[in-house]
Amino acid sequence: MDIDLDLTLTEEMLAIRESCRRFATEVLRPLAAKLDRMDPEAVIAKDSPLWDGLEKFKALGLVGMPECYGDDLTPAQRTLMHSIVCEELAWGDVGLFITYALYNMAPGVAKAYGRQDLVDFFSQRDEIFCLALTEPNHGCDMVGFSEASFRDPKGRADLRVRRDGDDFILNGQKAAWVSCGTIAGSAVLFATYEDSKEGRADGVVFLLPLDLPGISRGKPLDKIGQRTLNQGEIFFDNVRVPRQFFLMDGPAIYPHVLGATLRDANIAMGQQFIGVARAAYDHALAYAKERVQGGVPIIQHQAVKLRLFNMFSKLTAARSHVRRIAMANATRDGGLPFPYAATAKVVATQTCLDLAHEAITMFGGYGLCREYPVEKLFRDARASLIEDGENTMLALMAVSHF
Ligand SMILES: Cc1cc2nc3c(=O)[nH]c(=O)nc-3n(C[C@H](O)[C@H](O)[C@H](O)COP(=O)(O)OP(=O)(O)OC[C@H]3O[C@@H](n4cnc5c(N)ncnc54)[C@H](O)[C@@H]3O)c2cc1C
Repeated sequence: MDIDLDLTLTEEMLAIRESCRRFATEVLRPLAAKLDRMDPEAVIAKDSPLWDGLEKFKALGLVGMPECYGDDLTPAQRTLMHSIVCEELAWGDVGLFITYALYNMAPGVAKAYGRQDLVDFFSQRDEIFCLALTEPNHGCDMVGFSEASFRDPKGRADLRVRRDGDDFILNGQKAAWVSCGTIAGSAVLFATYEDSKEGRADGVVFLLPLDLPGISRGKPLDKIGQRTLNQGEIFFDNVRVPRQFFLMDGPAIYPHVLGATLRDANIAMGQQFIGVARAAYDHALAYAKERVQGGVPIIQHQAVKLRLFNMFSKLTAARSHVRRIAMANATRDGGLPFPYAATAKVVATQTCLDLAHEAITMFGGYGLCREYPVEKLFRDARASLIEDGENTMLALMAVSHF
């Protein structure tokens, strides 16, 4: 049973969904199975199949999502289409989806900031993008824009910025957790003024190329989940950033910009991890029809039926919730308040972890084996609860708005 409850899908939207589903099945899944077992250095090496996958993604015609879905869609339809595309591609592999979605994203970010000069600048380049926010000693601290601790002047930032005439000088580093940190060619970078009296609230945002003199990278991070997603540190040694790459700064506006960035990132996380949750459900259902115990396929045992229904209902509810939040955020003037976006991320990632856990139970002992796909989904899902704001921290931030 595979119907879409959103009945407004046009023929064109259905065709895009179909081509994403085929790409996820034929390209992303086999590629991810291979990369998941490789050393993180090998995943990003010149001869890695990661790059061949990127070429195939470019051919799919989805670079620059969600702008690329055609001009005749309403904002609500475009957002629904994006939820569907995210779900289908993350169903294939979420780490690869994030990597490929970050390809040539800088012009879209420049456009969102109303900076046509930077749209022109970054459109000339051909590179993966990253969002560099968290620091080795400030993870939740950098994210928690609504918390009192955000404005606490104690605790030196790991990446510090000072003005020098029209330019800015950067010193320090970002965390090993920056997605695509060691392979990105450009970044939206959040940094703190070195003489800040308001903690991390006196920050500055840049959209900059990562080939400026003085920028270097760490080693790719070796982690249990989302191993297809490169992560690593970015170091800044007296990096001179021309004013051209400055977007905004100061305690009056920086926390709001960070808040809006996290809000949109949380909704994107929700859209993606519905796809991983569906992958767990699909594998569990297929296995339940195939595996015979007690002389019958296990789906015929009442307890298994109940578990499958539980998975199905959680997935259906979470998907409806995330799509609703995404559409309201895109169509409401000024977007949604942060707590709504946090629910999309927390509900989707927790559902995803629950379903991946349940899928392992459905597979019995085989669920723990690397030849079967569900243990990888469990590892990928576990990482999502920390990604783009640890879920407990997001809950605290949401309640600060109440
Ligand atoms: C897969 C993945 C992708 C990521 N991608 C990016 C990226 O692209 N760019 C980027 O900048 N970062 C990225 N991150 C980093 C991510 O945002 C941080 O890992 C996250 O914000 C938590 O920070 P931390 O790991 O330093 O944990 P810490 O901040 O050290 O937190 C450790 C524990 O303490 C708890 N805690 C901390 N402070 C508080 C508090 N004030 N109140 C209550 N509890 C608290 C937390 O909830 C957590 O359980 C990514 C992380 C992952 C796992």
